[in-house]
Amino acid sequence: MTYIVIGNCQDCRFTDCVEVCPVDCFYGDARMLYIHPDECIDCGACVPACPVEAIFPEADVPESESKWTAINIDICNDNLDSLENITEKSDALPTAEEKKKRLGF
Ligand code: SF4
Ligand code: SF4
Repeated sequence: MTYIVIGNCQDCRFTDCVEVCPVDCFYGDARMLYIHPDECIDCGACVPACPVEAIFPEADVPESESKWTAINIDICNDNLDSLENITEKSDALPTAEEKKKRLGF
């Protein structure tokens, strides 16, 4: 199994999650982060760290967000060079607070 980042992260990138990941398996593009399925050790530490509930165990991804499972896995397996390994917290995107409010957090 692995953990999956869903669309709530898009335009947020709060990056609190990377601080608690023991294996540094978060990778990001300009809009969001993804979890590398082969590197994640399923510890669950990142789930409560995310302020917009963007991280789920693969088996518990909500039906409405199911497309994100393949997106995380495919981009990490096929296009890792296009991503940056994010291991330290950085500023959230300028759109983050607005997106967070829109999501109801
Ligand atoms: S803490 Fe949540 S919103 Fe922030 S980068 Fe991690 S998954 Fe995305
Ligand atoms: S479940 Fe654990 S290993 Fe996997 S991304 Fe989250 S913190 Fe990292």
